[in-house]
Amino acid sequence: MTDTLIKVDLTKSPTENENIHNRWHPDIPMACWVDPGDDFILETFDWTGGFIQNNDSADDVRDIDLTTVHYLSGPVGVKGAEPGDLLVVDLLDIGAKPDSLWGFNGFFSKKNGGGFLTEHFPQAQKSIWDFKGMFTSSRHIPGVNFAGLIHPGLIGCLPDKPMLDKWNAREQQLIDTDPAAGLANPPFSGTAHMGRMTGEARDRAAAEGARTVPPREHGGNCDIKDLSRGAKVYFPVYVDGAGLSVGDLHFSQGDGEITFCGAIEMAGWVHMKVTLIKGGMAKYGIKNPIFKPSPIVPTYNDYLIFEGISVDEAGRQYYLDVNVAYRQACLNAIEYLKKFGYSGAQAYSILGTAPVQGHISGVVDVPNACATLWLPTQIFDFDINPTAAGPRKMLDGSIDMPLSPDLS
Ligand code: ZN
Repeated sequence: MTDTLIKVDLTKSPTENENIHNRWHPDIPMACWVDPGDDFILETFDWTGGFIQNNDSADDVRDIDLTTVHYLSGPVGVKGAEPGDLLVVDLLDIGAKPDSLWGFNGFFSKKNGGGFLTEHFPQAQKSIWDFKGMFTSSRHIPGVNFAGLIHPGLIGCLPDKPMLDKWNAREQQLIDTDPAAGLANPPFSGTAHMGRMTGEARDRAAAEGARTVPPREHGGNCDIKDLSRGAKVYFPVYVDGAGLSVGDLHFSQGDGEITFCGAIEMAGWVHMKVTLIKGGMAKYGIKNPIFKPSPIVPTYNDYLIFEGISVDEAGRQYYLDVNVAYRQACLNAIEYLKKFGYSGAQAYSILGTAPVQGHISGVVDVPNACATLWLPTQIFDFDINPTAAGPRKMLDGSIDMPLSPDLS
């Protein structure tokens, strides 16, 4: 039987669990050790450590302290791993915990977290998604049901000290260009959970531990939906033992994780196997992780594809800006779905949760970048294709996503 090396109790706070951490730092002690070739299971909290509840209010999304996230399981030490190696991680299987067969998706308030379309959806909202085996649907969003492409939003190895210092320095440099704008998140010791570290060593590490928000050279919070069960990932190793940590599991996510809180977020478990390629970073010229996709993906093969160009909502021209172009593609898809009776929030949530593809289609035709959003038509209970008869309003607006009043 495969050993479960890290267990989590969803009725307890993640900060009581010494095999959980929410910062990156080379001094965080290994939670456990394995040999190359071993397979094992790690259980994880959802990224908020259970703060977001299965109910019909978005107050928790509005009020969350975002310095607390992400709660990761690990680090797992791999015997014989040394800086410069590649840690090969086979994601053998991923699932929800039997006592937690649900997930959440939401938009943060513009005053706490914001998000990709925060100018259009400035208030906290959330939808709850129930899991039935490999399928999911939401009581807050009628008319859609799809197979999950389950994956960890966040997985990676511990940085060494020079890399940690480099991260903190370059992100602080960006913050300093406009300190009020929230361009990045500096270290914050108050809510740091440093695994089993205690005392002065813990305080020192907590004061400089990198936040888990951005993806970095080690992988980290990449939110790549295709990193799903069956995928094989090659991670750069920076410290002896590698120190692999994982969390932020997603039952499903659209490309871009545009809703930010987040995909369909869940607690669960990851069954994985680790091996090593000694000296693999130099052998293959690896700076950031590479991976092989899963042999099993949902076969949604019919899409309605929305184009967007780098001209913003006010008509302002941008130069080859992919971010602006993808935002327009998303807004175009939301406008379209509203014609079938969805609220804007419901449509936005569908784009953040369903196996939607985002593509960078063109980045050379000055001045406009072109991005496309691929909306799978088969996830809907009704036909969403354009026809001469026009859209049929399928929903009467009686069900919408909970919206929480903003606190000043
Ligand atoms: Zn997530």
